Amino acid sequence: MTLPVRHNLTLSQQAFVAHYCEHLNASDAYRAAYNPGPEVSAAKVTAMAGEVKRSKGVAAAIQDVLDKTRNPTVFNQQLALQAWLDIARANPNELISLRVGCCRYCHGQGHAYQWRLREYLEAVDRVEKQAAALALAGKATTDLALPDPAGGFDFNATLAPVEDCPECHGEGVERVVPRDTTKLSPDALLLYGGVKSTRNGVEIIMADRVKALENACRIIGAFDDKMRVSGQLATMQAAIQLQTTDPNEAARVYQQMLAGMPAGE
Ligand SMILES: [Zn+2]
Repeated sequence: MTLPVRHNLTLSQQAFVAHYCEHLNASDAYRAAYNPGPEVSAAKVTAMAGEVKRSKGVAAAIQDVLDKTRNPTVFNQQLALQAWLDIARANPNELISLRVGCCRYCHGQGHAYQWRLREYLEAVDRVEKQAAALALAGKATTDLALPDPAGGFDFNATLAPVEDCPECHGEGVERVVPRDTTKLSPDALLLYGGVKSTRNGVEIIMADRVKALENACRIIGAFDDKMRVSGQLATMQAAIQLQTTDPNEAARVYQQMLAGMPAGE
C-alpha cells in the first residue's frame, strides 16, 4: 500500500496505518507495527493502539487512505495498477483459442478426403448445375466429375489427428475457436473490446496485454529503476576504469563521477 508521504510518519506509524487500513483492527495494527512483547497485556495493547490511532499524523493518514480506497470515484494509483495487472493477467484463451484437430484425411476411409454430408451434397449440386449450364450451351460435360465420396461423410474437426495419416502425419490442422461473448468471465471481459466484421470473417478485438503490463510497470516505476540501474552501471564502469588510470587522471574522473557527468570525456 502506498501511503501519503506528507504526514511525516515514522516507519512504525506507517506500518500501523498500512495494517489498520487493510484490516481495520487497531490492536492488530499496533502488534504488527510496534511488536509489543508477550508481557504487554491485551488491554494495554488496546490502549496504546487507540493512542497511536488518534495521534494527529496517523489519524490524518488513515483518513486519507480510507477516503481514497472507499470512494469509488477516486481512481488512484493503486486502482490503476490493479486494472492494468488484471488485463495483463487475463487469459486470452477465454475469448478465442487455437486448437488442433484432425485433418480431412486422418479419419477418412482408406485415408481418403472425408466430407461432412452437407458439404458433399453441396459439391454434387455445384457439379450438376455446371453440367446443366454446359449442356444448355451445347458444350461437352465429359470433363466434369462428381466429388469422390470414398473417405465417407463423418468429418468431425474436433477429433484428434491420427499419427499415420499420409496427409498431416499426425500434426493435424489448427482451427480458431471463438467463445460466446455473453458468457465471458469478468477477467475475460477486461480483454474483450468487441467484434469487427472483416473480409475474412469476424475479428475479435482484444486489449493489448503487453501494453497493459508496460503500463503497470510504468506505475510501479520499473522503468525508472532500469534507468537508475544503468546509471549505477556507468558509475561502476567508471570506478573500474579508475584502477587503471594514473592518480591525477583518477582524481579527475572521480570528480566528474561525483558531478554526475559521464567519465572519460
Ligand atoms: Zn491428417
